[in-house]
Order: sequence, then C-alpha cells, then structure tokens
Amino acid sequence: MSQDVPFWETTPLHAMTPEQWESLCDGCAKCCLEKFEEEETGRIVYSRVACQLLDLDTCRCGDYPNRSRQVSDCVRLVPAELNPATWLPETCAYRRLAEERPLPRWHPLLTGDPGSVAAAGHSVRGRVIAPSKDEDPLMNLIDWIK
Ligand code: SF4
Ligand code: SF4
Repeated sequence: MSQDVPFWETTPLHAMTPEQWESLCDGCAKCCLEKFEEEETGRIVYSRVACQLLDLDTCRCGDYPNRSRQVSDCVRLVPAELNPATWLPETCAYRRLAEERPLPRWHPLLTGDPGSVAAAGHSVRGRVIAPSKDEDPLMNLIDWIK
C-alpha cells in the first residue's frame, strides 16, 4: 500500500534525492522574475521583468549549473532556504511542501504532463519581458494569483 503513496508525501524535503528535489520544480519560472518586498506587509510583489539568464521561450535558466556564479542574487534552493518560504510564489511546490500543503492539482508530478503548468495559467511564458535599462521593474508589477 505504502508504495502507492508518492515520495513527496512520505519523504521530508531534506531527505529527498537530488532527482526527487529537482522534480518538484514545475518550471513556472515565477521565481526568476524581479521581485520586491512590501515594507509594511512583508508581501512579495512580482514584476514581469525576467532575470537576464531566463530563456523567455523555454522558461528555463540559460545556465542552470552555473546560475549562482552568473547571477549573484539567484537563490540556490535548498531546504534551509524554505524557512520561511514566503518569498516563493504560493503555487511553488517547495513552498507548499515546506508549509505542509499539497501540490497544486495541475503540477506535472500529478498530471504527468509538463504542459499542464501553462495550461493552468501558471507559467510565465509569453507574459514576461527581458531586463532592459528602459524598463523599470516597479512599473511592471504583475499579480500571478488567479
Ligand atoms: S517558483 Fe518554484 S516551481 Fe516555479 S520555477 Fe521557481 S522553484 Fe520552480
Ligand atoms: S540565474 Fe537562472 S535560475 Fe537563477 S533567477 Fe536567473 S534564470 Fe532563474
């Protein structure tokens, strides 16, 4: 019976294999956008300005193995970064599991389809812009909550 229970419901985040850990990422790329913390509320507000390394067509990091070297404020996710996890979007599997909440029903681990993220409206693909000196991220805020 227990073999039918998926690993993310039985394995604590800190005990997952690298493969299990990586598979939690749905590829939404919301965490690869310029964001700000509201001073009064602590709420994280997202802009539609992407990180310089984000490939806007695939929504993948352009140099994932070297991301920390390439972009100094890119946070390499490890369990310690999830306490608290409120800087990540509500939908992010790492945040949800850290908060003992289930994966969203459209998560690829549940649907078996990486396209289910975009189909549910949670991929940034087609909705974000590259960084540029002409674009002020503060003038390009976006609310991903649907
Ligand atoms: S927000 Fe979470 S699920 Fe989305 S790309 Fe970032 S780490 Fe992956
Ligand atoms: S360096 Fe890569 S993983 Fe990090 S924020 Fe930029 S695109 Fe995302």
